[in-house]
Amino acid sequence: MAGDRQELLDSFYHQHGPCCAGCDWWRSLNSMAGECHAGPMVAGVDRTAPLNIHGASRAIGAGHVMTLREHVCGAFKDEFDWASLPLGYRRRIGAPLTEKGRIALATTQGRETGGGVDG
Ligand code: SF4
Repeated sequence: MAGDRQELLDSFYHQHGPCCAGCDWWRSLNSMAGECHAGPMVAGVDRTAPLNIHGASRAIGAGHVMTLREHVCGAFKDEFDWASLPLGYRRRIGAPLTEKGRIALATTQGRETGGGVDG
């Protein structure tokens, strides 16, 4: 199941471009949301604010901020070596199949130039 979730998130990232789903700082909680580990832990009441969850009936402990997979901020980082994955998997998720393709995609998305996207 975790493998299915990761494949779904990897596909989402390669179809949508820079977003939490493809960010090195992100740890998925399910196929839609996860935690951003780029910053320090915060109080429970602040963790779910980016999900527009306020006044939850169950107390949420301190931890990392939760975000939706499509969110992106200026700290986005993708240094993962996608070429290390099996070719069949890369085809399924829509990842560039060659280094040339990866550089072209990254340049188009502003990743090679450090041009982050704020959100
Ligand atoms: S894109 Fe920004 S908010 Fe999302 S996981 Fe990466 S650093 Fe965190």
